[in-house]
Amino acid sequence: MSLRVRLTLLYVSIVGGILILFSAVIYGLVTLTLLAEVDDTLERTWEDVQRIARVSASGRLEFVTSISFNPNVFIQAWDRNGNRIGATISVSQLERPLDEQGLHESGPVFRDVFIDSVHLRVLSVPFLVGGRPFGTVQIGANMTVVDGTLQDLLRTLTIVSLVAIVLSGTISWIATYHALRPLDLVTQAALQITETIDLSRRIPQTSHPNDEVGQLVRAFNLNLSRLERLIETQRRFMADVGHELRTPLTVIKGNIDLMRRIGADEEFFQSIESEVDRLTRLVGDLILLAQAETGKLPMDSQVVDLDTVLLEVFRQMKVLAKDQIRLKIGEIDQVLVCGDRDRLKQVLVNLISNGIKYTPPGGQVTVSLGKKGNYARLVVSDTGPGIPEEDLPYIFERFYRGEKSRMRSKDGKGFGLGLSIAYWIVRHHQGRIEVASKEGEGTTFCVWLPLVDGECEGEE
Ligand code: ADP
Repeated sequence: MSLRVRLTLLYVSIVGGILILFSAVIYGLVTLTLLAEVDDTLERTWEDVQRIARVSASGRLEFVTSISFNPNVFIQAWDRNGNRIGATISVSQLERPLDEQGLHESGPVFRDVFIDSVHLRVLSVPFLVGGRPFGTVQIGANMTVVDGTLQDLLRTLTIVSLVAIVLSGTISWIATYHALRPLDLVTQAALQITETIDLSRRIPQTSHPNDEVGQLVRAFNLNLSRLERLIETQRRFMADVGHELRTPLTVIKGNIDLMRRIGADEEFFQSIESEVDRLTRLVGDLILLAQAETGKLPMDSQVVDLDTVLLEVFRQMKVLAKDQIRLKIGEIDQVLVCGDRDRLKQVLVNLISNGIKYTPPGGQVTVSLGKKGNYARLVVSDTGPGIPEEDLPYIFERFYRGEKSRMRSKDGKGFGLGLSIAYWIVRHHQGRIEVASKEGEGTTFCVWLPLVDGECEGEE
């Protein structure tokens, strides 16, 4: 059963239930009120009868003063032997009692009876003469008008309820159509995207972007964007890795050909070695990332003096920076953290070498190390071109290389893995890495690592 049908049925049953309950209450109240009014009339008539009626010597019930009774009310008097001893004109022809059973009651009783299919409400009251039970007076009221009124009321309530139920069902059917229509569109668009495998398509936003359906569309589109980016990254990675592998392999093969033709030369060996190094680095990076992402990265847990590591890396990087980039140390504090010395060194190398790689000649890369609260704070900032805002959320993803930076990168040798590796290493040290950058104003990476004062957990 479709959601639309279910919602409509639910709505109709709620409205129907309320209306039936409401109608029943109204009908019950009106019935009770009308009945109470009739009973009241019968009782008042009995009081009148008591006031003006006497039993004559011949044993008949006579009225000592004349009084005009309600024309809808009939009175009969019966003695204990079942003889009629008096009656109003309207029932003078009626030989049988208004209420046969009522003649045998010991106290006043109201009862509904039907005489020739005429509905009567009858009050039977036993009466005494000379202190002894003498007979029963029966006062009846014609209920035709009351029954008619109640029937009219029932008919009106039924018609109104039915109209209201049909109306509410129709309104609910139309309203749910409009409410669910956007969902239908979302489903169709999603199916089309699946059929055409076109991840660049997006589901058009509805006219109410902040309601539930609007949010669903937004979430779906966000997922599509993410999926598209992921697939694009994989595609680019395949192309990049293919390209990266082809160049060194071609160089190696060319060198071997040359060696075969003109004999071995030290220069050929060096070239082959450098290409093999590059291939080894790529494979190493890939293995490290795979291990880090699956939580299987083998890591030492020892006290590491980060300031000493920083100075070591600084000296190595000075060579890389040559005279083109000013590599400076800002403030440096003595800082101890827990972890794997080589891996932490790799984080520093990746961040500082990126600074040097992307900063144009004449620029500056500054490194500083300090403490804030329980954390070591390592900052690497450069005066380079900065990272475009649209690239910022992705730079820590595997194989992500900003298009502009890729072109600007001086050696073009990055695999787009450096920051990803740094991210995972820092994460495995219970730290975090942040980036702040503005195009044209440089980039600042900030690494936070928990400080240690004493021994590391798991240290031998
Ligand atoms: P790559 O091998 O391309 O350097 P990384 O993972 O180290 O890979 O960096 C990912 C991307 O982040 C780079 O392609 C570049 O676009 C951007 N990036 C990283 N560091 C910097 C920086 N200091 N200045 C400008 N862009 C940077």
